[in-house]
Amino acid sequence: MKKILLIATGGTIASEQTGSGLAPRLHPEDLLRYVPDAASICELDTVQPFHIDSTNISPAHWLTLTGIIEENYEKYDGFVISHGTDTMAYTAAALSYLIQNTKKPIVLTGAQKPISNESTDAKTNLLDSLRFACSGDCGVAVVFGGKVIAGTRARKTKTKSYDAFTSINFPEIAAIHDTRVVRYVPFSDNGREPVFYHRLNSRVFLLKLIPGIAQEAFSLAGEFCDGLVIESYGVGGIPDVYLDELDDLIQKGKTVIMATQVTQEGSDIKVYEVGERLKKRYHLLETYDMTLEATVTKLMWALGRSEDPEEIRRLFCTSINYDLLF
Ligand code: ASP
Repeated sequence: MKKILLIATGGTIASEQTGSGLAPRLHPEDLLRYVPDAASICELDTVQPFHIDSTNISPAHWLTLTGIIEENYEKYDGFVISHGTDTMAYTAAALSYLIQNTKKPIVLTGAQKPISNESTDAKTNLLDSLRFACSGDCGVAVVFGGKVIAGTRARKTKTKSYDAFTSINFPEIAAIHDTRVVRYVPFSDNGREPVFYHRLNSRVFLLKLIPGIAQEAFSLAGEFCDGLVIESYGVGGIPDVYLDELDDLIQKGKTVIMATQVTQEGSDIKVYEVGERLKKRYHLLETYDMTLEATVTKLMWALGRSEDPEEIRRLFCTSINYDLLF
């Protein structure tokens, strides 16, 4: 029987009514009492490094999770992290960069309703995650609502329904039908050894353009970050009025990346003059088909690895765990 480590972190799945709203109260052994079938799927150990609503997640928590998986990597066949849904896509993306080439599944799951509710998605999601973690698959993935989504491609697209997560610009890796894992995307083992990284630079800021946004927003954002992601419109472009501010940021050595507010199909900065000039003048980085969650966490990881703009560019443009097809 495979051995799986369940890493419980809180979230709705482990929450109870407190009188002032839902808050995480259940520990991993309480969660497992609701899914007796787990015992027939795998041997389980549990650990609870923190117990939070995932609204409170930070890069320090991602490094803690990485440390736990690294320490226990040889002892287990796979890892399941129970997590709040609100920031699960960020954690899944961050772990995809912090733990690369993993030959053992690292699965994130959670629920829209607490496991103690009579009607809940928590039991199915937890059991599906254990099944997927035993499937011998590799990489970091989100298992939710019967879907298996690459850790760099997940986005929470519904606040209430059970099918809360969507795979953005990439097919779902697999589906779980009852007890069967049906694989859609073939394994992609690059033959490299697993690598664990221990540093993130969280001085990253995401600036969403709205028509008429103050010019100072650019300079202020630039003051307290090393990497700025500009969430532009459509395939991409920066309005004329902000070009001086952009010049200034780039001269100060900030890494600037252009993303798009449109969820599907990604950026293509060279299509319009408002974008093409940025490509010519600064060789500006863009996100293409990457999610915003993957973009910001990849930037934290790349800035944590190097201060050299060319190396940061190279790291950002390298495809990792299916994050970038372009
Ligand atoms: N606020 C909760 C959290 O992210 C929501 C959830 O888990 O579904 O922890």
